[in-house]
Amino acid sequence: MADPLTPVLTKRWLSPNSWRLSTYEQLEGYTAIRKALNGTPEQLVQLIKDAGLRGRGGAGFPAGVKWSFMPPNEDKPHYLVINADEGEPGTCKDIPLMMADPHSLIEGCVIAAYAMRSHHCYIYVRGEALHCFRRLDSAVREAYAAGYLGKDILGSGFDLDITVHAGAGAYICGEETALLDSLEGKRGQPRLKPPFPAAAGLYAAPTTVNNVETIASVPFIVNAGADWFRQMGREKSPGPKIFSISGHVEKPGQYEAPLGTTLRELLDLCGGMKDGIPLKFWTPGGSSTPLFTAEHLDVPLDFEGAAEAGSMLGTTAVQVFNETVSVPWAVMKWTKFYKHESCGKCTPCREGTYWLDQILERMVDGRGTEEDIDTLLDLCDNIFGRSFCALADGAVSPVVSGIKYFRDEFLALCESNKTPGTTESELVGA
Ligand code: NAD
Repeated sequence: MADPLTPVLTKRWLSPNSWRLSTYEQLEGYTAIRKALNGTPEQLVQLIKDAGLRGRGGAGFPAGVKWSFMPPNEDKPHYLVINADEGEPGTCKDIPLMMADPHSLIEGCVIAAYAMRSHHCYIYVRGEALHCFRRLDSAVREAYAAGYLGKDILGSGFDLDITVHAGAGAYICGEETALLDSLEGKRGQPRLKPPFPAAAGLYAAPTTVNNVETIASVPFIVNAGADWFRQMGREKSPGPKIFSISGHVEKPGQYEAPLGTTLRELLDLCGGMKDGIPLKFWTPGGSSTPLFTAEHLDVPLDFEGAAEAGSMLGTTAVQVFNETVSVPWAVMKWTKFYKHESCGKCTPCREGTYWLDQILERMVDGRGTEEDIDTLLDLCDNIFGRSFCALADGAVSPVVSGIKYFRDEFLALCESNKTPGTTESELVGA
């Protein structure tokens, strides 16, 4: 499948020294900033609304609408916070973007901050990605030296400072309010919403938290316009998207394609199923999104298409599993992740993920009973929608959808009272 307008976000990635300011400038970098600073903040907010850019962190909230929640006055400082705490299992798009093209994020930050009357931007990078922190930090220093950051940017009178901050490796700190607590120096745990960050965010001041890919899309929209952006993707989910494809495919990696692209088309891009072994199940957007099966190969992967088919677009982390993989085993592995990463603040998540793990481990160990399947579903029912943040809702997604499509496999496990055939090494190596 060839789309004439993509690649967009990834087009510089293969250029030599793509992360350097000099390369970025040669390839049209920092041209959008000049245009943006010559206009008004209101014009920029309207442009992003017209483009229909939706949040690329997973939830798909309209970015321009989010920006418009920031108050017009500056009674308190306004903050722009970039959520670069990419941690959803299977998700690997923001870190490669920041490694290959950090200046597109920095340019996007300047434009977004100007639109929201913010003079301080924080980029919160996942703690484990030290290489990414270093790359961004040096790109920020290059941008200061060239006058793209700091006081009176390009003689426009607009000032912006960027601080790159490394987290400490907690999945929960990707939740925007936990991230804000963590930035403030507290233990990262989600806050109750509302108030949303635009009303009371960092240091209780108006704050917008945006994902890396969202903000890196902004310079392209400023340069080429809302209509150009809308030529890609679908009406309610326009634009290009980076899909991170992993698992049993010939060439795993990052593939940029318009929103609405199907798994069948993505498999063409990445060389098909590894060794031709048929597809069994897959996640459209990380493990927090309900599983799909081979029946869903032609589902358009955009916010509406994935939801109408019973899942979510999420982070477009497409994890592909072939017929050799046991679904209960994979579900157990994901559940262990959520149990480990639950921050413990609310009971349904803290206790629920613990019990899900206990039951799944018992089943996979060959000690389960048929009743356990219903107990799992009952537990999920008591977790979903009853916790502080989306972590627990994500945790039940693989369990509920795994049982929905592969109940027989869970049942067979209980009846046979023996472990399934898939081991970790088989999963990785098949
Ligand atoms: P959400 O729908 O609660 O919020 C999305 C964004 O819109 C937030 O910034 C929120 O502040 C804003 N918002 C929503 N309603 C608002 C309102 N009424 N007024 C003002 N602002 C409003 O979703 P969430 O809990 O922030 O995120 C859940 C998503 O995160 C999931 O879809 C999942 O795919 C994704 N996720 C991503 C990663 C990753 O590594 N990128 C990790 C885990 C989860």
